[in-house]
Amino acid sequence: MSAARLKNTGRYRVRPPAKPDEIAADNLKTVIQSMDRDANVATPIRPCGADTSATDCNSSPAGTVIRLSGLDRVLNIDPLNFTVTAQAGIRLYALAEALAEQGLELAGSYEMTGRTLGGAIAAPCLGPSIGDKKSSLASQVLSLKLVTGAGKPLTVARDQKNLLAAVRSSYGLLGVIVEATLKVQPITTFSATHRRLNVAGFCDIVDTLSNSDVGFRFCLMPYRDRVYLDLRRYAAESGNAWSTPWKIKDWGESTVLPHVVKSLGRLLPIQSVRYRLIDGVTQATQGIVSSRFLRHGTNASNCAQARTASSTRPMLYSTWCFPASDFSLVLKAYRDFCQNTFERSGYRCDVPVIGYRVSRDASAVLSPSFDEPMIALQSASTQANGWEDFVIDLADFAEYWAGVPLFSQSRSVRADYARQVYAGRLEFFRRIRRQLDPEDRLLTPFMAQYFA
Ligand SMILES: Cc1cc2nc3c(=O)[nH]c(=O)nc-3n(C[C@H](O)[C@H](O)[C@H](O)COP(=O)(O)OP(=O)(O)OC[C@H]3O[C@@H](n4cnc5c(N)ncnc54)[C@H](O)[C@@H]3O)c2cc1C
Repeated sequence: MSAARLKNTGRYRVRPPAKPDEIAADNLKTVIQSMDRDANVATPIRPCGADTSATDCNSSPAGTVIRLSGLDRVLNIDPLNFTVTAQAGIRLYALAEALAEQGLELAGSYEMTGRTLGGAIAAPCLGPSIGDKKSSLASQVLSLKLVTGAGKPLTVARDQKNLLAAVRSSYGLLGVIVEATLKVQPITTFSATHRRLNVAGFCDIVDTLSNSDVGFRFCLMPYRDRVYLDLRRYAAESGNAWSTPWKIKDWGESTVLPHVVKSLGRLLPIQSVRYRLIDGVTQATQGIVSSRFLRHGTNASNCAQARTASSTRPMLYSTWCFPASDFSLVLKAYRDFCQNTFERSGYRCDVPVIGYRVSRDASAVLSPSFDEPMIALQSASTQANGWEDFVIDLADFAEYWAGVPLFSQSRSVRADYARQVYAGRLEFFRRIRRQLDPEDRLLTPFMAQYFA
């Protein structure tokens, strides 16, 4: 029985967790001093951005957590060479706003823009990609500065390809990223069309979609046999890509819906009534917000989300990536898994599942789509009671269907399985980690199970 399961039985008294020391860094000097081997800073040390991860990758039961969100300045925007240089703690929405003022945008379309630039580089930051454009924000990093685990400032230049590939998605194991230069692009309009389907209908087309140039994101309601599909293509002419409807969409989906769902969960004790109402509200949100207003978009408008975006949303989530080539089979099995789990345990997720296609991307050693395009599938809920058992079962499901875990977003990943999936790449990463952090100052017990 796993620790999470033991906790849930209530048979064992769990001691209140010890608290790590905290350092709020708002300048480079503080980071360098904190990482100094001779400084009196408790180890292990964990860098933390906006704290939106689903796992313990950014926290530690002891040692020190360095919070980077105070390092939040844009240092330079170069509209001629299409680059931006910014500090690691800046939120993506703030970066997107600064770029939009110059007619520029990030090269990918990302949600949850309350996250920090450093967190989005050090952990997979993925969004639906159109065509073969890379889906991860880290792929656009041209160079960066970090303070290594050994306490040394290090600049990684664009021609240091192996080192750069290791630092992208390095989960704060090589050092604390303080600054990065990214490739950006002129604001480009895409057209968005929306369809409502049942699961079988979506499965009929999803493999074809995965092999085409179209980008897609979907919202799945596995207990209602319903899929809301959002298809994206680059538009021949620019339509009205106002940011307001996208802000409303983000606000509706990621703030209002989870809060309403959580309140209904508390107020309505009868399960059947509760879930009927919750699903009704979800369908209304999807139907109204997506279909009517969002005909055109840009990465800039998609990133211009409500400023309330933060990790305080009442959402638990676990994301796994699955090979796009035979995703139709996975999706049917996933729907059955959800329904069977509900019948057996009485637990179900109350927030819709979000999925999108992630293109092949070998720019990071630990990229989840290193070998082939994947579909990212995010299961989410506001109901904590039963969630830990659900994510353990979900991890079993994902293993069976060749799921690729993200160390920041997939819950209950078995260390053996992670080693099997990332294999030689994990070994390569470990070698670089031993050079940049020879004393394991950045290695917590949680990270050690995968990276020691
Ligand atoms: C509601 C919700 C929706 C989400 N949707 C998506 C989605 O669509 N796509 C997606 O990809 N993700 C999504 N996420 C996941 C999350 O936003 C990402 O994992 C994000 O990249 C983490 O950024 P952060 O600033 O919160 O970093 P944190 O969670 O604080 O840290 C993430 C990792 O990066 C390390 N780290 C942070 N800052 C630094 C630094 N400066 N230097 C070195 N290491 C650092 C940490 O140690 C940790 O290992 C979602 C999360 C939520 C809560």
